[in-house]
Amino acid sequence: MVVIRSEKDTPESTEVVVVGAGPTGLLLAGDLATAGVPVTVLERRTEESNLTRAFAVHARTLEELDARGVADEVIASGHRVEGLRAFGKVQIHLGDLPTRFPYVLITPQYNVERVLAARAVRAGAVIVRGARLESIAQDTEGVDASYSMGGLVRKIRGQYLVGADGHHSTVRQALGLDFPGESVVSSLMLADVLLAKEPSEQREGQYSNTAERCERGILPPAASASSGGPVLPAGRTAGQSRPAANRRDRRRQRRGSAA
Ligand SMILES: Cc1cc2nc3c(=O)[nH]c(=O)nc-3n(C[C@H](O)[C@H](O)[C@H](O)COP(=O)(O)OP(=O)(O)OC[C@H]3O[C@@H](n4cnc5c(N)ncnc54)[C@H](O)[C@@H]3O)c2cc1C
Repeated sequence: MVVIRSEKDTPESTEVVVVGAGPTGLLLAGDLATAGVPVTVLERRTEESNLTRAFAVHARTLEELDARGVADEVIASGHRVEGLRAFGKVQIHLGDLPTRFPYVLITPQYNVERVLAARAVRAGAVIVRGARLESIAQDTEGVDASYSMGGLVRKIRGQYLVGADGHHSTVRQALGLDFPGESVVSSLMLADVLLAKEPSEQREGQYSNTAERCERGILPPAASASSGGPVLPAGRTAGQSRPAANRRDRRRQRRGSAA
């Protein structure tokens, strides 16, 4: 697997520079490399993230992963949930969806990223870790990307550069592009925690543990209706879970500020 972490091995040119090794950048890098296009990914993190972040992989995403031959690997890393009962009010059945994947897969984002990174590298993409994009300069032939790595500023030239560097995109800022839109109406609090014991039963008392409830397609509700949200099995350690709670943030909604 070609994942570069040392500055001496970094390429000086490629056809496409992708900035960001999140799911977007890794999927694109894999697609380009599979199509025979030389691609180098610059990623500021030195190691993969250990944060759950996105944990629900929906049917359509699994179909897209399946088209690339990696759905089964992602599925093996998670739990299938065929129905959701959210906030004690809404019940959603996914079992009848007309798809090979009639469920939502619960798996931490780093599992999806690991599979996508391996696929991209297998196809020939180069991933440079610990490389933070600082600036870009375009001309009629291509683009120079300056990035810092190991205390040095280095350059890579590509015919194209793709910004897949997330919410606070350096690429977007360098291009002077706006980020239009309005804030969502609720704020969400998430935590990756290690629980000393299983979450308390509220409505699904007949199931003895979280894994059994997940097998039966029921996400357990949060500890209290007012904090409202699921507690999901997550993480690499047995017992590691992810409680989520949301609340209306009317102040933000009134201001209409972008999140
Ligand atoms: C706490 C949290 C919880 C979330 N929970 C959910 C959820 O439950 N469900 C859901 O659907 N979505 C969730 N999301 C959103 C989901 O994580 C994002 O939609 C997804 O990560 C977007 O993927 P991306 O590849 O576009 O960007 P990102 O995953 O943000 O990846 C961008 C990458 O670019 C890198 N990068 C940034 N700047 C630079 C730079 N200058 N140079 C080099 N690299 C750079 C970053 O290190 C990062 O690896 C959550 C997000 C967070 C933060």
